[in-house]
Amino acid sequence: MYEHTSISELRTRLSCGELTCTEIVSSYLKKIEEKKHLNAFIEVFEQEALQRAKTLDAKLSNPHTWGRLFGVVVGIKDVLCYKDHHVGAASKMLENYIAIYNATAIQKLLDEDAIIIGNLNCDEFAMGSSNEHSAHGKVLNALDESRVPGGSSGGSAVAVQAALCMVSLGSDTGGSVRQPADFCGIIGLKPGYGRISRYGLLAYASSFDQIGIFSTSVEDAAIVLGVIAGKDEFDSTCSDSSVPDYATLMVATSKFKIAYFPECFEHPSLDKEIKKKLENMIQTLQADGHKVEPVNFKYLDYIVPAYYILTTAEASSNLSRYDGVKFGFRTKDDVENLNDLYKKTRSKGFGKEVKRRIMLGTFVLSTGYYDAYFSKAQQIRKLIFDKTKQVFEQYDLIIMPTTPSTAFKFGEKSNDAVEMFLGDLYTVYANLAGIAGISLPLFKHSNGMPFGVQVLSNKLEEDKLLQFSNMALKEYQHAYK
Ligand code: GLN
Repeated sequence: MYEHTSISELRTRLSCGELTCTEIVSSYLKKIEEKKHLNAFIEVFEQEALQRAKTLDAKLSNPHTWGRLFGVVVGIKDVLCYKDHHVGAASKMLENYIAIYNATAIQKLLDEDAIIIGNLNCDEFAMGSSNEHSAHGKVLNALDESRVPGGSSGGSAVAVQAALCMVSLGSDTGGSVRQPADFCGIIGLKPGYGRISRYGLLAYASSFDQIGIFSTSVEDAAIVLGVIAGKDEFDSTCSDSSVPDYATLMVATSKFKIAYFPECFEHPSLDKEIKKKLENMIQTLQADGHKVEPVNFKYLDYIVPAYYILTTAEASSNLSRYDGVKFGFRTKDDVENLNDLYKKTRSKGFGKEVKRRIMLGTFVLSTGYYDAYFSKAQQIRKLIFDKTKQVFEQYDLIIMPTTPSTAFKFGEKSNDAVEMFLGDLYTVYANLAGIAGISLPLFKHSNGMPFGVQVLSNKLEEDKLLQFSNMALKEYQHAYK
């Protein structure tokens, strides 16, 4: 059985002839089959992955011809277009839809010799925090199968957690990479808005969406980010700035200046043990010479409402394209006219949570309510943006919890949408502000579940984030477990 440690070690083992890509892929396929009940994969590209491994093996003896992700086995969330493969956002609406082009991130993986092993389950259209809203059924947390893996990228998190691939891609609109990483005890990185092209990513809320990376080592996340980041003529919101060679910039040369918002730590929803362990970490960082200081942040109570108003508004517009005419599912019922076709198709094709959000979004955009909800939420976003800018004028990073609790049990929150939404308290901030964030698996709760700490950096300063993460995982890995 192949056991993954890091991409650099993989390259060493491949180049000295200890392993072949075919052996590695076969080992993953076997493991995926064994762990099928976790329901992480929607589809496994078995024959194709083996074929690609064979093609790569023909280059085994010429390492200078290898791409940067040679032999790296990757799983992708079911919202990323991979040409000639099904992509469905875990929705009945796209049940038979086949991608007609590659997302830019996917193309870049392929260009660097990665092996895509399958597409991964998630909440429908990336809306959710528990992976209970998928047309393909729930995904189980491999550490405790009675608990959720988090969402919406639950399949991507569990695939890495259960070692069913080396790294995976997810999408993060309000925490969908960082929160499941926290719940599953792995690393989840959401780069700043615009760092990775969104071309070929099925949209949820376009001014928030960003592709993110799950891994078990910071270095792997850095290598994958270096490959998939960068300007793209197909996405005008994608930044033109050059992409640093993250993997070679992993060692911090000085101590960090870190802000924390006391309001985050005093919030009543925060689990006491998470609070205590994170406060201890802050003290340790201070004792180790980092400058860690409180900065007041008075917007905490507004961020979840602002997030849900703005994202549902954008979703109501983005998802209007799924009407039974252009894409995927169309009702087979008798219809009287075009409107009736739309109505019946959308009623049957979308699940409950997606419908809730489309209706909420349509409501906040409607005449009469626009100013009361949408405009107000935009104003809050601007205030948050300005405040964040100020913070980063003085500090390198912000530190806070990733989530208020550890992974909860299936069904625990599924009947109370507001309670589920409130669990996004700490993650949506980064998406509202467009900054980068990572969840680092440093802690273990007395209930047996892991949890992470969330670290945020300014928009295109993922290099600082990765340097800090690298240091923190090395120094504190064992301190809090
Ligand atoms: N849990 C959040 C939501 O349901 C985040 C989703 C995401 O990041 N895709 O909107």
